[in-house]
Formats: sequence, C-alpha cells, structure tokens
Amino acid sequence: MKMIGLIGGMSWESSAEYYRLLNQGVRDRTGPLASARCILWSFDFSEIAALQKAGDWDALTRHMVQAARALEAGGVDAILICTNTMHKLAAEVEAAVSIPLLHIVDPAAEQAKAMGAQRVALLGTAFTMEQDFYKNRLRERHGLDVIIPDVDDRAQVHRIIYDELVAGVITPQSRAIYRGIIARLVEQGAQAVILGCTEIMLLVQAEDSAVPLLDTTSLHVDAAIDFALGGVQASEG
Ligand code: GLU
Repeated sequence: MKMIGLIGGMSWESSAEYYRLLNQGVRDRTGPLASARCILWSFDFSEIAALQKAGDWDALTRHMVQAARALEAGGVDAILICTNTMHKLAAEVEAAVSIPLLHIVDPAAEQAKAMGAQRVALLGTAFTMEQDFYKNRLRERHGLDVIIPDVDDRAQVHRIIYDELVAGVITPQSRAIYRGIIARLVEQGAQAVILGCTEIMLLVQAEDSAVPLLDTTSLHVDAAIDFALGGVQASEG
C-alpha cells in the first residue's frame, strides 16, 4: 500500500473526516485489520484564515510548500490538499515536490460526468466560487458548465463556512439557508451540486437537495484510496 500525505487542519473538522474515511475505506476494501498508511500535516487554521483574509497568498504558498516538502521527506507517495480553497496554490505545491498531487477537482468532475451531469453548481468559499482556479479546471479540463450562487447567496455560503462549519457549529438555520440556495441553483438548471468546501457535507446531505450532491471530501478520499491500493493512477498537472 502506498502512503498518503495529507495537508490538513483547514479545518481540522474536515481533516478528521479525511482521516476517518481514508481508514474506513482501506478497511472496507482490504480487510478488518487494515488501515491507511498516511501522514497528516495539520495547520493552525486561525493563521491560515488570517492570511487568506489579508490576501497574503505568498505567505500561504510558503506554508503549503513547506508542508508538502516535509511530507515528501517523510516518505509519502502522493499528496492531498484537504481543502478546496487552498487548491488555488495547487500548481505551486506540485512544482515544489516530485510526487503527485491528487487534485480535488478531478474526482468531483469525473463523478459529475459519470452521472451524466453537464451543468454543475459550485458551493464553496468566496475564493473558490468567485476566482478562476477552480471553475477553470472544471470547464477546461472536464468540459463542464459551472454556475455559482448570486452575490447575496455567495456571501451566506461563505459566512456560514468561516463563522460556523470550521468551528464545528452545525445549525438547522444554516442548513435551511443552504437548502434554499441549492434549490435556486437547481431552478437555474444545475444537474448536480459540487460541495466545493470540505466541511459542507457536515451540514447538508442528499435529502437537502433535489439533485445529487458531489461531496469533495469523500470523493477526494476515494481517489486517494484508489491511488494507495494501486487501482487508479493519479491525475497529474
Ligand atoms: N475547507 C474549506 C475548503 O474546502 C475551507 C477552509 C479553507 O479556506 O481552506 O475550501
């Protein structure tokens, strides 16, 4: 079994899910005593969030590269960045190491295509929804149509992530807000909704949506297990 390097702590609420799902998946596929070979690098998210807010992506790049190199030195065979937002720096991380980065967009896009969804909605932080790094990969590499919520809904999605989900706060009020936003995206023709933030699955599940929800946390983990067990090759670049 290959060893997976996890760049996590963004937030630890979702990294805990990554660790649990990775081990659960290896056990399910290979036997009751089996567990994942992995190393978790876990940031203090308060430092990361402050740098995001300040727009200091150079400092964030240095942090991410340091983490990736430390994991490589520790002997991992591939790296996962356990957050959608920080895939803004995926190219810099890839360039800094000689092992593959398993990109979070690809398994979500593959799942959308496998279920015949052409028009997908994207929920995530404002960085993920509004900047090009994520949508461009969905569009250019995978040929998907991508829609995002309107400006007021984007503000709500972002606020709930940073004020609640990363702090482990899950409320019925916020679930209702997300349900309403998802319903409006479905009215606009979304055939699937990408949960493009690794904590959103803590808040909404399949029953909250009329169309399939693509949970990037579990899809990313599945891709890592495929890689670790030798089933599927990593998509590089
Ligand atoms: N985990 C979240 C994501 O997937 C947000 C936290 C972050 O900014 O990294 O985007």
